[in-house]
Amino acid sequence: MNADILNKGCVESGRDAVIAKFEKRFNCNPDFVSIAPGRVNLIGGHVDYNGGLVLPMAVDRHTFIAGAKGEEAGILTVHSIRENESFVVDLACPMSPAQPNWTNYVRGVVHGFLSRGIELPGLNMLIDSTIPSGSGLSSSASLEVATAGILEAASGVMLKGNEKPKLCQQAEHEFANVPCGIMDQFSVTFAKREHMLLLDCRDESIEQVAFDHEHLALAVINSQVRHELSQSEYAMRRESCESISTTLGLESLRELTWNRLEQSRGQLDELSFLRAEHVVRENERTLEFVHYMKNADWFQAGEMLYQSHASLREKFQVSCAELDELVDAARQVGLTGGVLGARMTGAGFGGCVIMLVEREKASDVVSKIVEDYNRSGATLSRPRASGFVAESAEGAQVIKCAVG
Ligand code: ADP
Ligand code: MG
Repeated sequence: MNADILNKGCVESGRDAVIAKFEKRFNCNPDFVSIAPGRVNLIGGHVDYNGGLVLPMAVDRHTFIAGAKGEEAGILTVHSIRENESFVVDLACPMSPAQPNWTNYVRGVVHGFLSRGIELPGLNMLIDSTIPSGSGLSSSASLEVATAGILEAASGVMLKGNEKPKLCQQAEHEFANVPCGIMDQFSVTFAKREHMLLLDCRDESIEQVAFDHEHLALAVINSQVRHELSQSEYAMRRESCESISTTLGLESLRELTWNRLEQSRGQLDELSFLRAEHVVRENERTLEFVHYMKNADWFQAGEMLYQSHASLREKFQVSCAELDELVDAARQVGLTGGVLGARMTGAGFGGCVIMLVEREKASDVVSKIVEDYNRSGATLSRPRASGFVAESAEGAQVIKCAVG
């Protein structure tokens, strides 16, 4: 446990490791290394696909892709260390989703470049990662954006403005068949170290908000749980929000006001009402959280996290017993132990809980909560949790490797 806390995701060591692995596999030096972080969403749960306000921060866990022009023109060879698997694509043939599924995150991005008429040379790529996958830290968007970085470097065509995250989102929709919002790809692309990214998913505007690293830290506890229904429930929540908007004649739930919601009691069933209530209040909470963080009112900021979790549990119903237990444990440790607030992050039904903690107590908090949780779960057949103190990270970047 302690080893995991101390073993911070380090960009330099990850970069050196992916270069060494590339050289071993492909017998040549890479031309480029593309690095993209994972992210946590501090607040604004399940509002991104409702045109809402979210507050992600990139964290120091990364996807590293080393790439070099290959000997065979028009042939792309990709290897994932995590999957211990390779696949080969003929760039001259039409690209479509295929098995195994992880390859679709890469195929979709390649397709995005080709469909924009961007010519790609033959390429060898090796993917390495320090982001746990399927835990809500957005290893998928990180993989897509890192892939786009390598393809930009190899083709010499840089995508402008929002085009890169949009291309990556489309890849996830059309190739991985996941109807995600724009938050993950935007935060992985545009994040700044020591900042949270206030993203308005309606007009795609961004404000960088400072995160006070001197006094605060963010703890991430990974429950390692992923309940089966996670993907289907996510799709159902999206559909339900869209259907509420249609019923109320709104573009999206972002347009919903408290007045309009009150008037709609007769039009919505009980569950839809709760879902809508969560979205309206959660958007307000994001802005309130930002306000409190800017004013160093960390106690109130923490309260917003607890409230967000309660609403996701009771109104949006996307939490699970393991996440609730971890958030309760954070409350138990409380202010005296250095915990200001906690909530589930990501889509829910497993994955991670984030905790806003006093920096000097952060490691102790993580150790205590993880140890207690694992002890209390020793007789249950549930995975052991792990945790780390996350440092904020810079958005995606590509490094040109020195020749020789
Ligand atoms: P999250 O984005 O929260 O980690 P997702 O289910 O959206 O969870 O994405 C996880 C999927 O992304 C994995 O199951 C795998 O298909 C793909 N993926 C992520 N990282 C890698 C990697 N290093 N190598 C291969 N596939 C990866
Ligand atoms: Mg994902």
